[in-house]
Amino acid sequence: MTIKPLIILPDPLLRQVSQPIERVDADVLKLADDMLETMYEAPGIGLAGIQIGVARRILVIDLAREGEEKTPLVIINPQIVKFSDDASVYEEGCLSIPDYYAEVERPAAVTVTHVGRDGKEHVLEADGLLATCLQHEIDHLNGVLFIDHISRLKREMVIKKFTKAAKGKAV
Ligand code: ZN
Repeated sequence: MTIKPLIILPDPLLRQVSQPIERVDADVLKLADDMLETMYEAPGIGLAGIQIGVARRILVIDLAREGEEKTPLVIINPQIVKFSDDASVYEEGCLSIPDYYAEVERPAAVTVTHVGRDGKEHVLEADGLLATCLQHEIDHLNGVLFIDHISRLKREMVIKKFTKAAKGKAV
């Protein structure tokens, strides 16, 4: 397993739409392991392939708290097939937008079909934090960031801040 460098805002890769994975082979399993390792190291509770520069439709999630046994989820080619009518609000953050948090309203529950690391089709019914996390990570596969769900003014401020920081590093 290898810890990979994270892609940070405003890198245009984060706006790229990721491509489906055709079959779960050894390369895909290695990618999943690297993503989990990178996520645990950060630490974070979710990571999409594009956040380590791989534009493929794969994400990993683990909501276990520190000190609890790990519960890694590997989700390939996810599709949200059902959204609940009721919404919930969570304060979200993102490993690609470090140290920035904002409240985002999303459907409170979702049903997601996907392929697992066993290569088989699965259906996941999620609510609470898992539902929010799944929607956040699936957004990444479509080039969408959680800051796209906040006010335009706040979004422009955070993009400006990260653009300035990236320029500072380049000099
Ligand atoms: Zn994110």
